[in-house]
Amino acid sequence: MSYWIFVLPGLLLAVLASLVTQTTFRRYSRVRPASGLTGAEAAERMLQSQGIVNVRIERGRGFLSDHFDPSANTLRLSPGVHDSPSLSAVGVACHEAGHALQKASGYGPLGLRSALVPVTQLGSQLAFPVILAGMVLHRPGLFQLGILLFAAVVAFTLITLPVEWNATARAKRLMVSSGIVTPQEQPHAASVLNAAFMTYVASAVSSILTLLYYLTLGGRRSD
Ligand SMILES: [Zn+2]
Repeated sequence: MSYWIFVLPGLLLAVLASLVTQTTFRRYSRVRPASGLTGAEAAERMLQSQGIVNVRIERGRGFLSDHFDPSANTLRLSPGVHDSPSLSAVGVACHEAGHALQKASGYGPLGLRSALVPVTQLGSQLAFPVILAGMVLHRPGLFQLGILLFAAVVAFTLITLPVEWNATARAKRLMVSSGIVTPQEQPHAASVLNAAFMTYVASAVSSILTLLYYLTLGGRRSD
């Protein structure tokens, strides 16, 4: 019962944020920017406006699977973003271009997030089994190790927030100044990014609540 008290709010927020993101994306995927640019062209123009020419822009697979790969210095845009001349597509593409600009300008939190990826993968898989083992075997050290592993997951979801917000802020500013959208179109393209940011807030809230739940298990163990 108490498990759901901790997990349900984050879960509901995640579902809501995802629904709003998809609805907003679909709404503005039917609206063409006056510039007529596709997502791929928009990303290229935004990067060029900042003197960045060494970032590859590729067509990836899957709905809203868009991301920037820092190690390959490559933007992978989903087909619906890469090829589509819509406010949604240019919004998402410019956000991803914002991540490429973060790398080019040596934006600290991006490097920190990349460094946390391996620990986070380990943490999200091992934390609960280790915590459980600590409880069953009555080993407080093991229990604390599990908490520490999950704290890395929480740290990752928190450092993601400034990274995502900053990429969106760069996109909002540069999509107008580089002529990708007009100032009148900008709020519509930006609304997709604002909704997408809520999904990152949802996962941060989820991870914090899950950590709190694990900590209550520790309290129960010592009773
Ligand atoms: Zn992003």
